[in-house]
Amino acid sequence: MTEATELVGSELDLVAEEIRAGDRFLLTTHENPDGDALGSLLAVHRILETLGKDSLMFLTAKEFPLPVEYRFLPLEEVFHEPPADISDRVVIFLDCGNIDRMPVDFLREARNKVINIDHHHDNTRFGTINLIDVEASCTAEIVYDLAGLLGVEMTPELANALYVALVTDTGKFMYENTDGRSHRMAAGLIDAGVQVNEVYRRLYEHSPIEKLKLLARALEKIELLDDGRLAVTYISGDDYTSTGASEALTEGVIDHLRTVDGTVVAAVVRDQSDGGRAARKVSMRSTDGRVDVSAIARVHGGGGHRRAAGFGTDLPYEQVVEFLIGEIAAQLGGPPTSG
Ligand code: 5GP
Ligand code: MN
Repeated sequence: MTEATELVGSELDLVAEEIRAGDRFLLTTHENPDGDALGSLLAVHRILETLGKDSLMFLTAKEFPLPVEYRFLPLEEVFHEPPADISDRVVIFLDCGNIDRMPVDFLREARNKVINIDHHHDNTRFGTINLIDVEASCTAEIVYDLAGLLGVEMTPELANALYVALVTDTGKFMYENTDGRSHRMAAGLIDAGVQVNEVYRRLYEHSPIEKLKLLARALEKIELLDDGRLAVTYISGDDYTSTGASEALTEGVIDHLRTVDGTVVAAVVRDQSDGGRAARKVSMRSTDGRVDVSAIARVHGGGGHRRAAGFGTDLPYEQVVEFLIGEIAAQLGGPPTSG
């Protein structure tokens, strides 16, 4: 056992103790929640309920409707307003690298005990207890271990929530974060009752036609720049209007860009329709690991993993592209011709 896993082990014990001792909890995750965020949120909620705790899930109203992929998850109980007894609740953040990724004042200003459970290497450790396992393929992997430690029975519903998180964060067990541990977890979940094909169909074969129309627009506009090192596209407000698609239907577009031969970085720049924070959102993927896209994201206040990261910005598309090309060149030691 390495020093790092020992440390994580003791944090896991601490979190388990905190959960056993606590009574009331509020669970949340990051904005624009993905499969790992929502699956982990629901899983911890069920674990706490099984243990007889009072648990509330919280997400802001702007996150609804959720991306269509995840609407089959039973998340009807999610709250959009702070509960009256918020100051008496232990707050648990899941899959959230920094507190600004859940931009609500009552949490930022809260004096509550905060448990921070995450797998992002750039997690700012904003919690009272920080259970950060960067070796975990997804936050749900940590939650799975936690459920075991707490002796909570793995019901089919709990297993389903964890499986959605695992499948989506590992790119269907194909990203480099996939290892024996993620496959052993998958085996445990399937033994507990996950219907693999049914989850796959719900996640990937229930797309509204508008999603494919939006994808078609995004693919039509692909640019291969920087001698093919950067595959990038732009999804504008016009694209939402003309296809009838909402911003939530942009999930997964980037997986197509990364497939282009020779791509080192894939990026999708999209207009944000919620009108709240930055005008645009940039999603990035590093295909072969040579570029650390989380470092690029941090320049603009974002973050993520080395191979998957994002940031919000008000820069117009052309300037985002210029910025990305500059950052890629800086990391690879120069432009394509000299590199
Ligand atoms: P996606 O491109 O799928 O939205 O996000 C990829 C990864 O980057 C996820 O791990 C996500 O949490 C992280 N990420 C995306 N946008 C941001 C951001 O604005 N700030 C931070 N800190 N992380 C982000
Ligand atoms: Mn995650």
